[in-house]
Amino acid sequence: MSVTNVPEIFGSLVFNEDVMHEHLPKETYNALKECINENKPLSFEVAQSVASCMKIWAVSKGATHFTHWFQPMTGITAEKHDSFIKPVGEGRIIMDFSGKELIRSEPDASSFPSGGLRATFEARGYTAWDPTSYAFIKDNTLCIPSIFCSYGGQVLDKKTPLLRSLQALNKQSMRVINALGNETGATHINSFVGGEQEYFLIDRDLYNKRQDLRLSGRTLFGAMPPKGQEMEDHYFGTIKPRVKSFMEDLDRELWKLGIYAKTEHNEAAPAQHELAPIYSEANTAIDQNQLTMEIMKTVAIKHNLACLIHEKPFAGVNGSGKHNNWSIVTDTGVNLFDPGKTPAENILFLVFLAAVIKGTDEYQDLIRVAVASPSNDHRLGGLEAPPAIVSLYLGDELGAVADAIENDEHFESQQKIELKSGVKVIPRLVKDTSDRNRTSPFAFTGNKFELRLVGSSASLSDANVILNTMLAEELCGFADRLESASDVELEANKLVSEALKEHGRIIFNGNNYSEEWTEEAKRRGLLNLKTTADAVPVYLLDKNVELFKKHKIYTREELESHYEISLENYCKVIHIEALTMVDMVKKSIYPAVCSYMSDIAGTIVKKKEASSKATYMLENELLTSLSNYSDKLYKATKRLEKNIGSAEDNDDIAKKSEYYRDIISEDMAEVRQYADELEKITSAEYWPFPTYTELLYSVV
Ligand code: ADP
Ligand code: MG
Repeated sequence: MSVTNVPEIFGSLVFNEDVMHEHLPKETYNALKECINENKPLSFEVAQSVASCMKIWAVSKGATHFTHWFQPMTGITAEKHDSFIKPVGEGRIIMDFSGKELIRSEPDASSFPSGGLRATFEARGYTAWDPTSYAFIKDNTLCIPSIFCSYGGQVLDKKTPLLRSLQALNKQSMRVINALGNETGATHINSFVGGEQEYFLIDRDLYNKRQDLRLSGRTLFGAMPPKGQEMEDHYFGTIKPRVKSFMEDLDRELWKLGIYAKTEHNEAAPAQHELAPIYSEANTAIDQNQLTMEIMKTVAIKHNLACLIHEKPFAGVNGSGKHNNWSIVTDTGVNLFDPGKTPAENILFLVFLAAVIKGTDEYQDLIRVAVASPSNDHRLGGLEAPPAIVSLYLGDELGAVADAIENDEHFESQQKIELKSGVKVIPRLVKDTSDRNRTSPFAFTGNKFELRLVGSSASLSDANVILNTMLAEELCGFADRLESASDVELEANKLVSEALKEHGRIIFNGNNYSEEWTEEAKRRGLLNLKTTADAVPVYLLDKNVELFKKHKIYTREELESHYEISLENYCKVIHIEALTMVDMVKKSIYPAVCSYMSDIAGTIVKKKEASSKATYMLENELLTSLSNYSDKLYKATKRLEKNIGSAEDNDDIAKKSEYYRDIISEDMAEVRQYADELEKITSAEYWPFPTYTELLYSVV
């Protein structure tokens, strides 16, 4: 028998297209497809029929429970399990699942962040089935992807705004496509996303010994190891057997859930790896990325490993991101970001490109805030990660097209150039006309845009909501003009050239990691919002409130809640880190260093007794250094502790976040500096937790 469908090999656990086709009565299947494709509401009878078939399928796969699976503002997923069993009298039970249970559930919303949207006496929240994302089975539980909103219908999750933004993008894209004659024959568009996920894998026994990793996901202490990534021997290096075995297991688990992890390789830093899935429709891809992060962590446990998804688990070592590859494709299969062979003549492509350029410039603040988190602050602007300055990379060929349009010149396409390997037996290779700029925060990569600012632990939802909404807004403005133009083609050309002339400052093809770019960006008037505390207030700027209101993504009230939640989260994360730091210093570092100093002092005393000629240079200098740094650590820790205590004095959340940014973070940096100096001169036998060398090089 030849098996062509991969999940069949492992036993699919997704209620996907094929399963639906097989299990649902024809009318139900057609009604469900109509609902998905044409955004039509589902009747209760259809839901009842889907629920009944879903249950039969799930039970046959060993499921005993079901849950609405949703994505509250915490950025991670939530579930509340109920079993299928239902009493039917005389002590008998049956496995049951109704249409009502499929469609909606009422978890208590009071324990999820709401940013003031929900008073505690109005604790009701609703989850509602999202039929556009596939249900799946995890841990013997049928998981039903759902949205989550308050009793008053306000957004309490990350999925609802995403679905709203996709609707807005569809509407405005179709207006432009139709105004330009709709040669594509499209009736709707969809956005496709491929999220490349970076992560670290370390030994679990070592992980367990680090309170900072367990509580905050990153190391709050740690001197640089003698070997970092300077040898550049890890990137794409041979995968170690333990990691290989983890990756094989992970692939199986993901494939069962219909998540097609395709490439897995080592990343630039030691112990760092990347997983890239085959791209899919945005809503599914984003659900699947949430699931991928969760499954990575659980599979790691089985291999006695710890999977670190934090953006910067190790200072001084590359951090982890999540590249958001984004394209817009019609239902007839035309990728609107595909320039084709002659981009200069592809007006539909140029209009969409112009919309991305204009949107990126006008809403650079929103792109920045969409990726802002206290953990990503440690990564953005680091030497290996894109800076906090948003710019767009077009590449050589598109850059030349853009230049020609901006300067009203004719564009000459470059001929494809052959790659010369100098070896005759190697097949002929044609070079891509554009190289890849790895330093750009937002890069055009052939037929998609790749947003590289997103942090590894973030939900991809926030970033896509902004990308979709800003594009919808620009397309809306373009459509208004195209629809009323007497000469549509002329108007389209005008739109493109205006966008390039007025927003060309956002395009940067050079090295984004360089100092010169920071200076140049400043001259161009581009924003450089360094931390989350700096970025979050942009949610409430009038132009942004207007944007979201116009396209029905968020109300002002919902944006205010976003603002609250983001800043609260920023303060809480730093607060927990600071407390963890103080705890580790007091309970582990002080005792270790004191014992070591006492031992050295003891050695001096013993040497004195043993010989009148003994010298004490080593002991004296060591003891002096240890004492000096211990005193400094003591003072810095006391100050940190005192300042943590004063944090609550700031009654305004913006002030409080600035306090954590300016005072607590600075105090923490100082504590760390002295602790790391002590680590360097303290005997390994005494140092209380695994060092960077152990953490980064123990998995073989
Ligand atoms: P890299 O960026 O590492 O060179 P690739 O270009 O091969 O890697 O692809 C990176 C990711 O982009 C993969 O997850 C892939 O599925 C996704 N991707 C490829 N084409 C598209 C597209 N048209 N739309 C969205 N994502 C895409
Ligand atoms: Mg990439």
